Amino acid sequence: MYQLQDSVLSIKGIGKNLQASLSANQIEQVLDLLLFLPLRYEDRSAIKTLAEIKNLSSAQTQISQSVENKKVKTNFVTTRAKVLRWNEYRKGRLLISRATIIDSTEQLNCLWFNNKFLKNKIIIGQEYFFSGNLKNGSLMQATVEKVGAENIHTGRLVPIYPQLADFKQGSLRRLLAETISKLHQSGELEQVFRDLHFPSSINKIVLARERLALEEIIYLMQKSAQNKQAHQLKQACYSLKAIPKKRIVTLPFTLTKSQEKAVQEILADLQKSSPMNRLLTGDVGSGKTIVAAIPASLLVEQKQNVCLIVPTKILAQQHLNNLKAIFKDINFQLVVADQKSKQNEAKLTSQATFFIGTHSLLNQLKKIQPSLVIYDEQQRFGVKHRQLEEYLGKMQKPPHLLSMTATPIPRSLTLSIFSHLDLSHLDQMPNERQMATTWLIPKEKEDKALEWLVKELLDEGSDTNHTKDVTGNLNGTADSPKRKKQALIICPFINPSSYQATENVAAVKESFVNIKNALKKIYQKLNVGAKAQLKIAALYSKLEKDQQAAIIDQVYQQKIQILVSTPMVEVGVDLPNADIIVIQSAERFGLSSLHQLRGRVGRKGQKSYCLLFTSANLNNNLNNDPNINYNHADSSLAVQKRLQKFCQEKDGLKLAQMDLENRGAGDIFGYQQSGLHDLRFASWTNVAIINAAREKLKLEPNYQSLLQNYLEKKTASSVIDTATN
Ligand code: ADP
Ligand code: MG
Repeated sequence: MYQLQDSVLSIKGIGKNLQASLSANQIEQVLDLLLFLPLRYEDRSAIKTLAEIKNLSSAQTQISQSVENKKVKTNFVTTRAKVLRWNEYRKGRLLISRATIIDSTEQLNCLWFNNKFLKNKIIIGQEYFFSGNLKNGSLMQATVEKVGAENIHTGRLVPIYPQLADFKQGSLRRLLAETISKLHQSGELEQVFRDLHFPSSINKIVLARERLALEEIIYLMQKSAQNKQAHQLKQACYSLKAIPKKRIVTLPFTLTKSQEKAVQEILADLQKSSPMNRLLTGDVGSGKTIVAAIPASLLVEQKQNVCLIVPTKILAQQHLNNLKAIFKDINFQLVVADQKSKQNEAKLTSQATFFIGTHSLLNQLKKIQPSLVIYDEQQRFGVKHRQLEEYLGKMQKPPHLLSMTATPIPRSLTLSIFSHLDLSHLDQMPNERQMATTWLIPKEKEDKALEWLVKELLDEGSDTNHTKDVTGNLNGTADSPKRKKQALIICPFINPSSYQATENVAAVKESFVNIKNALKKIYQKLNVGAKAQLKIAALYSKLEKDQQAAIIDQVYQQKIQILVSTPMVEVGVDLPNADIIVIQSAERFGLSSLHQLRGRVGRKGQKSYCLLFTSANLNNNLNNDPNINYNHADSSLAVQKRLQKFCQEKDGLKLAQMDLENRGAGDIFGYQQSGLHDLRFASWTNVAIINAAREKLKLEPNYQSLLQNYLEKKTASSVIDTATN
C-alpha cells in the first residue's frame, strides 16, 4: 500500500535510476506522481470491427498530418480481434513482427518494427485489443492489450501524458495504474486520481479537475491570509519623504487618468510606515511599467535602491532601454542570468540604483537591500516566487512590494482570493487604441489570407500614428515616416509541459518552413523580386540566447517583418510595431489566452488585425471520428462558433466568462496548453469554484488544502521555469 507522502521509490517498479529521473522532474512523492496529469485523452473505447476498418474510406486514411497535428491521428483505430497468425523476422538490423488478426467479420494484417517484447505477449488464438494507425491496409505499430477487466492502454479513454524523462507512454500508464490501485487511505482524492488518469467519461475528468481546482484556490486563500497577518505587523524599511513639487521628468506621453490614479495610490502607500503590498492589474499594453517606474524613480532620488523583476531577459533589456530614455538622471543597472555578459551580479555603487532584471535578482535582494521590489509577473498571477517570499518574511523591516499582472480577473474575485493585497487597476488604454480587427479564416482561405498579409506588409505603412511613445522614439521610427509593418505568427505548443521540448521546436520549425513555402508562391504570383521580399525569422526558446537577442533586435529595427514564434517566447516581448498577428491552431487556446495574444498588436494605436487559423483536422467532421484527441473535443461547429464569437467580443472579462461557460475537457486543457496561465488546476475566472472555496473556509476555518505541500513546491519551481527563458 502506498501513502501519498511516500517516496516514489516505494512504488513497485521504481528503482534508484527511475527515481533519479523522476526527481529531476520534481516528482519525489507518490502524490507528485499522481498529480502528473495527462495532457489529453485518446478515445480508444470505440471498437471498430475489422470489416469496418477495411471499409474506411481511403480519403480518411490519406489525410496528411502536419507535425503540428501529429498527435491527432485521424486514421487511428481500435479493434478487438484474435490472433490468427504470427511471425517475426529480421531484415538487417530491423526486427519485423507480423500478425494476421481475425474477428467474425474480416481479417487484417498488423505490422510492428523493433518491438522485441511482442513475442512474449502474443499468443495465437488469444483475443486482444489493438489500437494503431491504419496504413496501406495494415495496422501499424498497434498497442496490444489482452481483453480484460483492467484495460489501461486500449478499449477505453486512454491517458496520454506529457513527455517525462525516458518513460514510454505505456510504462507511465502502468506505473500510474499500479500506484492508484494500491493507494492507502487517500480519502477523497483517491477517486479524483482514478478519474483523472483512467476516466470512465469526459465528464468525470472535468469534475475531477474542478475538485483539484477547489483545493488550489483554498490553498491560495490560506496563503494570502497568512501573508496578511505577517505583513501587517511590520514596518517598512523606508517611507517616501515629501515629493518635490517640480520634478524634471518629461514623459514622452501624457498619462491616462487611470495611470495617474494608480501612481497616486502607490505614492500614498510609499509614504506610509507599513510596507506596501499592492497589485497593479491592467490589460497587456495598458502601461503598467511607467506607473511602477515613476514612484520607483522617486525612491532612487531619495537614495534608495529599487528592483524591477521581470520574467524574461528580453523584457528586462526593453524596460531598461525605455526607462533610461525617460529617467535620464537615474542610475540603472541590468541584472540577468547570463554567464557571458557578466551582468548577473548586481554591483553596488555609492549611487542609489534602479536595478532591472530577471529572477536572478532574487538571489541578490539581501545585498541590494531595495526599498521597493516591483514584481512583474506578466501573465502569471499572484504567485510570488518563494525566494521573494522568504526574503520578505525574514526582513524585520521589509521593502515595499508592487506586483503587476495582465491576467484579467474581476476585482471582487481578486480581493476574495488575495485578502492581503491592495489593488490598482488600469482600465484605460493609452492611445485610445482599438482592439485588433479579428477574423476567423477557413482552411481553404488561409493561402488567400497570407497573400493579403504579404500585400499589407509590402505596402509600406502610410499611417504615421506611431511616434507617440517611447519605444517608437528609441527605434528611430520618428525619423522614418515610412514605417514598415510587421506580423507575428504564433504556433502553439505541442508539448506544453516544457516549452523547450523538441516537439515544440519542431512545430515552430515546420510552421516556419510552411510559411516560407507559402510566401514563395505568393511572391511568384505577385511578381515580387528577391530584393523586395519580406524578411522572416523564427524565435523559440531553444535557440541560443544570443541568437534570440539578435532576432529581437532586428525585429526592433524593423529589419525582420515576420516573426514566427511560440506563445511563451512571445509573451516576453513587447513589439509595439506589430500590426498583424496570425494565431495557428487557434482552437487550442482559451479565449482569454487568445485575447492576450491579440493584445500584442496595434500597441501604438495603429490599425491592427488578428487572423485565426485552425488545425487541419478541424475541417474533417470530428463528430464522426471517435479517435479525436480531446484538446479538440469540441465539434468543429462548436469551435467555429466559439471563435466566431471571439472575433466580435472585445471585452477581456466577458471572454473569460465565455471560457467558463464553454468549459469542457478541451477547454480545461486549452488553458494549460496556451502556456499563459500559472494555475495548475483552477482558472482565474471560475467564479463558482472561488465562491465554493470561500464557503468551505468559512465553515471550516482550519481546513488545510489537500494539495498544500505539493503546491508549495510547485509555486517555487513554476516560476523558475520562466526565469530560464
Ligand atoms: P503593460 O501594461 O503591458 O506592461 P507597458 O508598460 O509595456 O504595458 O506599455 C506599453 C507601451 O505603451 C509602452 O511602449 C509604453 O511606453 C507605452 N505607454 C505607456 N503609457 C502610455 C501613455 N499614457 N500614452 C502613450 N503610450 C504609453
Ligand atoms: Mg508589462
